[in-house]
Parts: sequence; structure tokens; C-alpha cells
Amino acid sequence: MVPFPDSAPAPLSAMSAPQRLLRLLALVCTLALLIGGASYTTFRVSQAMGLAELQATGRHRLDLYATSLEREIDKYAYFPTTLGLERDVLDLLARDARDTPLAKRVSLYLEQLNERAGTLSIYVLDTRGTVLATSNWRRPDSFLGEDLSFRPYFREALETGSSRFFGIGTTRGEPGYYLASALANAQGTVGVAVVKVSLEQLEKSWATVEAPALVADENGVVILASVPDWKFTTLRPLDETTRHTFDRTQQYNRRALNPLGVKEIAPLDHGAQLVRLPRVGPETVSVFPVTGKFLAQAQPLPGTPWNLTVFSHVEQVREMAANRAALAGIGAVLVFIVLFMFNERRRHLRDRLAAREALQRAHDELERKVEARTAALSAANARLQAEVAERIRAERTLRAAQDELVQAGKLAVIGQLAAGIAHELNQPLAALRTLSGNAGKFLDRGDLPTVRGNLGRIAQLVDRMGTLTGQLKSFARKSSGRPQPVVLQQAIDNALALLEQRLRQSGARVEQTLPSADLVALCDPNRLEQVLVNLIGNALDAMAGQDAPRLELTAEQAGALLRLRVRDHGPGLSDEVRAHLFEPFFTTKEAGVGLGLGLPISAGIVHDFGGTLAGDNHPEGGAVFTLEIPAADEIRHD
Ligand code: ADP
Repeated sequence: MVPFPDSAPAPLSAMSAPQRLLRLLALVCTLALLIGGASYTTFRVSQAMGLAELQATGRHRLDLYATSLEREIDKYAYFPTTLGLERDVLDLLARDARDTPLAKRVSLYLEQLNERAGTLSIYVLDTRGTVLATSNWRRPDSFLGEDLSFRPYFREALETGSSRFFGIGTTRGEPGYYLASALANAQGTVGVAVVKVSLEQLEKSWATVEAPALVADENGVVILASVPDWKFTTLRPLDETTRHTFDRTQQYNRRALNPLGVKEIAPLDHGAQLVRLPRVGPETVSVFPVTGKFLAQAQPLPGTPWNLTVFSHVEQVREMAANRAALAGIGAVLVFIVLFMFNERRRHLRDRLAAREALQRAHDELERKVEARTAALSAANARLQAEVAERIRAERTLRAAQDELVQAGKLAVIGQLAAGIAHELNQPLAALRTLSGNAGKFLDRGDLPTVRGNLGRIAQLVDRMGTLTGQLKSFARKSSGRPQPVVLQQAIDNALALLEQRLRQSGARVEQTLPSADLVALCDPNRLEQVLVNLIGNALDAMAGQDAPRLELTAEQAGALLRLRVRDHGPGLSDEVRAHLFEPFFTTKEAGVGLGLGLPISAGIVHDFGGTLAGDNHPEGGAVFTLEIPAADEIRHD
């Protein structure tokens, strides 16, 4: 078996173009060698086997044909001898009674015998070779009285007692087989009896045989053949002496005796030969092939000097061998395909295994990297967490500081409000003093209704003072800064209430323009109030000294935001003020009046709500502060 070129380590896909071409070439060569080897070997073996088979068949045929021929001839073998039992025949020969009634009687007897036996002719000759009686005595071409001493069978019969001879009749040119026997009486040989047998019947049956056959006599002349063209041809060339003898004995009645032209190709075992048979004439019709390459097998016919040759057609062996060779070729292709596929599969599996291993390696590598990264990440994460915790701590601290700042800012406002509030509380306190003093006097007088009236008034004043301190307390408390829904109007009202004394003192007019009382912001109510107190306080500061200060508060909903504007009619913001408006500790006010923390704290609070605070000049004069804070979804309906 030719090995497959499977040692290439790289998979087909990974091969370069020349490598692929080389592999393809190797495959094609292997396939060609495989097909060629298998076909050639099968052809040779098959042909040898076929020839051996053909030889066996040929031998069988040879035996068969020989037996039938022998049987045909043997039928008449004792015919001439039995004539010696006839008294008339012996008398005729002994007396040499030519043209006598005895001769006629014997001829008549021979005629009847000939008819019965179906032979060509039967006749007796005296020892000189003259025909004394013959079965064809009636026919014009009868050889009665003819001298046939030149015929070899006559002489041989006289010499040896019997003879067998093939020849062509001299008178009618009819080929036949002559069986001759010497006849003798007590005195010795008196003559020769001859029976001429036709082998025509046998020849006819031969015409249909599968394998052509011929019988050649001792001279190599074909005397019997299944192919009519072959008759009276020679298997070997005749020399001059032989031809001369034939002329003399008229054995073949001067036939041309051309060579048959059998060409020997190669000798085989058991005396067989491969030969080429010549073309036959167009008049020869045969179902089976009679020309071409044949296996020739010959054997002598027992009891005769003849040879029987049977020709078996070799073409069928060649055809069968060729068919088997083709089948072997196809088989080789199939085997090649199976082996190729097996090999491809093996390669494929090996490639897959290699790929899997590579994948596993890559996977392991990846896993290692992932582990390393994870470790790095968790370290980074821990660092980040620490940082975040640190930030949160810082933010909390900042937030606390901011809250403190907001609170400080608020306390600063309260400080600013303190004088007004003290003034606000002084009045009711003085009234309380007067009313309680009067109440005692009226009690002494027994004027109880007036006392009751005074006490009612006292209660009202206490309530008013309580409200005021309550508002202040609520403003001063530390708020969480957590957003919640805040009714804007409420926040504005609370801020205005805290500034009530200042508003009254300045004589400022507050104009509120709110589309509805339903605007609800999302913020810390306490801090919103702180922002509003700051903005309104600043506006009042800006308008201090004006005759009719006017404060305008407008609010509107702008999408998800509430926009609140606080506008005054003061001097507005100078460029410098605008540049530093929200900077801590920036103030234009006198020391002790302003700290410069109001706006930065307010902006920080608004920013915490998720809103913005901006200050600008109004086109028509005065400053306007715009506060935008998120609106709560919930709408108030009371
Ligand atoms: P303070 O009121 O303590 O000065 P603020 O931060 O509230 O601190 O204000 C900073 C400065 O902004 C004020 O000193 C003032 O000059 C200016 N300002 C604030 N509001 C107004 C306003 N309505 N009109 C004119 N100037 C203003």
C-alpha cells in the first residue's frame, strides 16, 4: 500500500499554496499508482486465470469433439472386414470373375449395403487394384473396372491388412474417409474391401459449435473444419516432394492446398498455443468469432494419423480481464477514498485536539489573567471603598459644616431681626403692664365687666406675642434639609411675617403676583423661608431711605420648576457687586450690619434643593433675584 502523505503537521487550511499543490500532486500520484497497480495486477492475474480456465474448457471440448469423431468413424470400422465373410465377395476376388453375373450380384449386394449403411460407396478390388464390384456400378461415373492401385489405402491394406485414409474421390471429387481391409481366403489375400464414409454430417454439426475446430491429416492438410473456408488448406507449408506425391496419388484430387495462415503468437503449457486466425471469406457466416486471437489446443485422433485442433476465443478472456481490471481500478479508487477520508478524519481529529489544547491553554491563560485582574480590581475596589468612605466622611463633615453655616446665617438674620422683634414685643409688654395695673383698680371698684374686658385684651396680646416668638422659634430651629412638598405661598407668608416689623418700619409695599395659591415646591420649608427672608431683607436694605419702597414678588410654574422673582426698586447691582455677588463675606454694608454670607448661603441651600439662584438688574431699574426650585408633583387643592 502506498502510504498517505499524512506527516504534514499543519492542517490543510494553514498550508501555503505551494504546500497545498504539492500535497495535491502527491495524492494524485498515489491515486494513479494505486489504480494502475490494482488494474494491472488484476488484469494479469485475471488473464492468467482466464487462460487456464479457457485451456481446461478447450481440453474438454477437444475430448468431446474427438470422441464424437471417433464414434462416427468407428461406426464403419469393421465394415470392410465383414465383407470378407461374404462368400460371393471372396469368390469374385478369388476367381477374378470380372463382368460376370457374380460380379453383378456382388455389386448389387454392395449397392444395397451402401444404401442401408448410408456410406458414400463400398467396393472391392482385386490384388492388382482393379475394382471388381462397387455399390455405384449403375452410375455413369462408376469406377467399376478402374485401376485404383495408386491409392495409398489400397497398398497399405495389402501390406498391413487394413488402412484408413482421407482423400477426395477421383471420379466425383467427393471428399471422404476411406476404410480399407485386406480380404483373404484359405489361400491368402484375395483383394481389398473399401468403404468410403462421408463426414459431412459431423462437419455440419461442427458448424454450430462454439469453438472452431479442424482436423488435419498426417500431411497437415485440413480435411475437416467447422469453418468451410479452412477446408483443404494446409497448416504447414508443403515441400515439392510432398506435392508431387499428392499429384500422383490424387489424394486431394489436385486441390490448390493453400496455407491456412495461422500465426503463432506464444506457446503455452500442455502443448497449447496462442495463435491468430486469419480472416475468412465473406461467404462464411458464423455466429461465433472465427478470426482473431485464439487458444489452439490439439490432440491426435486415436486410430488415425490425424490431429484434432480446437480454437478457443481469447478475446472474452481479455474482455473479462479488462472488466475485472476496471472493477479493481474502481475498487482501488473506493479504497483510496475510504483511506483518504479516514486519514482526513484522523487529521481533522488531530487538528481539533490541537485546537482544543490551544483553546484550553488560552482559557487557562485568560483565567490566570482574570484572576490577576480580579485581585488587582479588588485591591483597587478596596482602595476606592476606603476613598469613598473617606469622601463620605469628608462630605458629612462638609455637610455638617454647611448646616452649621446655614444655621449661623439664620442666626445672623435673627440677630438682624432681634431689634425689630424686641421692639415688637415691647409694645404688648407695655400694654400688658397698663392693662394689668388698670385691672386691679377696676377690681377694687368692683367694675368687673371692665376687668373682664382688660383680661380678654391681655389674653389677645399674649397670643400675639406667642405667635411672634413661635415664628421666631420655628425659624431658628435647626432643620434637616430633607426635601418635602412646600406650599410656596405659605413660605412667602412666613417670611413676610418674620419681616413684618421691618416692612412696617420701612413703609414698603409688597406686591405679590402668584398665578394660584397651589404652587408647591419640593424643598425644606424652613430653609426656603431663610432664603426668602435673606432676599426680601436685602431688597429692603437696598430701598432703605426711599419714600415709597416697593417690593414685587412674582411666581410661576416653568415646566418641572417653580420660578420665583424678588424684585426691588433700589439702586440695582453695580458691576463689581455682580462680579462678587455670591462670594462669601462680600458685602457693601457697614460692619455689624452685613456679614456677606446671606447670598452664598442662600445659593448653597437652593443648590441643595436642585435649583438655582441668580441676581441681575431689572431693565426698568432695581435688582431682581430669580429663584428656581423643583416643583412637587403633588398639587394642593384646598
Ligand atoms: P449682606 O446683606 O450681609 O451684605 P449678602 O450676601 O446678603 O450679604 O449681600 C451681599 C451684597 O450684595 C450686599 O452687601 C449688597 O451690596 C448686595 N446686594 C444684595 N442684595 C441687593 C439688592 N437687592 N440691591 C442691591 N444690592 C444688593
